[in-house]
Amino acid sequence: MKLVKHIANLGYGSRKDVQWMFREGRITDAAGEVLYADDPLDHANVRVDGEPLDPPPGLLLMLNKPVGYTCSTKDPGRIVYDLLPPRFRARSPALSTVGRLDRETSGLLLFTDDGQLLHRIIAPKSKLPKVYLATLAQDLRGDEAATFASGTLLLESENTPLLQAELEVLDARRARLTLHEGRYHQVRRMFAAVGNHVEALHRERIGGLTLGALPEGQWRPLSGGDVDALF
Ligand code: URA
Repeated sequence: MKLVKHIANLGYGSRKDVQWMFREGRITDAAGEVLYADDPLDHANVRVDGEPLDPPPGLLLMLNKPVGYTCSTKDPGRIVYDLLPPRFRARSPALSTVGRLDRETSGLLLFTDDGQLLHRIIAPKSKLPKVYLATLAQDLRGDEAATFASGTLLLESENTPLLQAELEVLDARRARLTLHEGRYHQVRRMFAAVGNHVEALHRERIGGLTLGALPEGQWRPLSGGDVDALF
């Protein structure tokens, strides 16, 4: 691929915009030598205004999502993409969220532009565990763990029972729930099915991947090692 196309695909502008950047001498190699649109592609050696290029395609990143942001790109309010560099929304292939979290849910959210990886993570057969910390409006009764572990719980207006899920009770109104599937508003609907209400929800883990020390509202790119930790 030509350098100009590669840089345009990373969201730096249209091909025409990037052509201009070349003409203005804003695109150089690491030693500061001006590069040309037709030069061979050597991603790591390219600088734009002296800065290294954004990560190449095959990007996977994690965000510590705060409450109040939606995963939809069409929402008129605050969206999770507002927390990433603006160029990331203009990348091709597009960067999409790996599944979704509700506006009122916080925690671990992944993004990728790799369709195969996306599929590997969200395909029903992957059964990748997702771990949520739920804060409840009412005291737990004590029978919820058995109900969720039964593999027979039906959510309202569905006719396929939920897969078995593990509930760890932390105190009267807090519990950690591990799911192996991802249905719409699943955690909130599961607690509603046992007569409770989720007041706060936070995703702690997907597969073997946690947020670690990543502060709320911040993101970081993931490495091959992180992908290994996922599965
Ligand atoms: N389950 C929910 O109810 N909401 C989420 O955001 C994720 C899982």
